[in-house]
Amino acid sequence: MKSTQRFDIIVIGGGIGGSAAALRAAQNNLTTLFLIGSKASKLRSRSQWVVNIDNMIGFHEGIIKDQVLASLRRANHQEAAALIEGQHYHINNRAIIKNTLERLQADYADAVTIILEDCKTTQRVDDGFVATTESGSYQAPAVVLATGIMDEQPHIQVHDKSGNIIDSPRAIYPFANRETALYCIRCEGHLTRDDAVAVIGQSGTTAEVAFMLHERYGNPVYILTNGDEPTLSETTHELCTAYGIEIIRDSITDFVSAGVGQLCGVTFTNHPPIRIKFAMIAMGTYRVYNDLAQQVMANLIAGDLPPEQRQIAISHKGETSVPNFFAIGDAARLIDEPTMKQIYTAQEYAVRAVDTIDHRRRRKMRAAALAHD
Ligand SMILES: Cc1cc2nc3c(=O)[nH]c(=O)nc-3n(C[C@H](O)[C@H](O)[C@H](O)COP(=O)(O)OP(=O)(O)OC[C@H]3O[C@@H](n4cnc5c(N)ncnc54)[C@H](O)[C@@H]3O)c2cc1C
Repeated sequence: MKSTQRFDIIVIGGGIGGSAAALRAAQNNLTTLFLIGSKASKLRSRSQWVVNIDNMIGFHEGIIKDQVLASLRRANHQEAAALIEGQHYHINNRAIIKNTLERLQADYADAVTIILEDCKTTQRVDDGFVATTESGSYQAPAVVLATGIMDEQPHIQVHDKSGNIIDSPRAIYPFANRETALYCIRCEGHLTRDDAVAVIGQSGTTAEVAFMLHERYGNPVYILTNGDEPTLSETTHELCTAYGIEIIRDSITDFVSAGVGQLCGVTFTNHPPIRIKFAMIAMGTYRVYNDLAQQVMANLIAGDLPPEQRQIAISHKGETSVPNFFAIGDAARLIDEPTMKQIYTAQEYAVRAVDTIDHRRRRKMRAAALAHD
């Protein structure tokens, strides 16, 4: 059995929050173990789904294009300049995460150890926490957990490889990959502003998303419950009628494509087909990856949802109910505040958490230095 390696901090989860935390920890010169997770956990997370970020200032191709084009001013650069001018450079989660890993490896290799495995267990010990993966065991006085969530997906009946009919979410994936199936009202809602949109789900939250789209953009909006009975109040029904939002209760039989990943309609068991350009999936959370927080007995947000769908309760520092065990990003939520599942909030809480850990560590150094004198 290998001995337990020690670090100042263990960061678990190699998505947006974890990458921001690992970079901040490295820049604060903390010895950092960064457990970025396996290919399988990456595919099960939101980190891979964001194809084009356009809701944040600074994250825009125009900044880089301007600088590159400024260095291509000579006559023999014209062809290259025209090529760059005509390209669309997506800035997405994959690119951000890849770039952060490259920076950590190039500039902070002394401070950061990166391991491409899932963390299997976390455990409280006298002076901190022990985290284990398949191949090792690691200890630190503080942990930052950023393992994310996964959205509930609409299922429709499809044929599997053996020709059997099964309920599967896979029909929506090609559209999700091209941002015509959307998941985030704050980051992607504006894309629908000129087009008809179907909001998929059956709850009050689904209706709220439909109302927000209609009130902001005045576009035609449908609610598709995909065979489920809507759980909407009387007032919600009245507002749907007032806004001309049709609630279609039939099961969806297909998402119609107008080219690679381009959604153009939905078909149903009985209802006539509808033409839409976007679907907004508003079915709630399928899974919050909170197991490692539960293992150290950190509190989850209270409520009626089953534990696997409840976010981890945190303070304004990003700290859970367990001192020095922090949780950030989509998997975490401030008590009594709305959820903020965004790239910039994951990054902000990464910095809050790591700076708190750094502050506590330095406070101990000071106390030790004074005790020594
Ligand atoms: C379609 C879509 C579009 C979006 N667009 C935007 C946008 O334009 N702007 C914006 O601000 N936000 C956007 N978001 C939200 C944004 O992607 C998330 O808020 C952000 O990715 C959350 O970061 P995170 O670190 O909490 O989780 P994630 O980025 O999902 O990362 C979680 C990571 O944890 C790892 N992991 C899981 N379990 C383990 C384990 N046991 N051990 C080790 N690692 C583990 C996974 O491999 C994964 O890498 C969008 C979300 C979706 C779904």
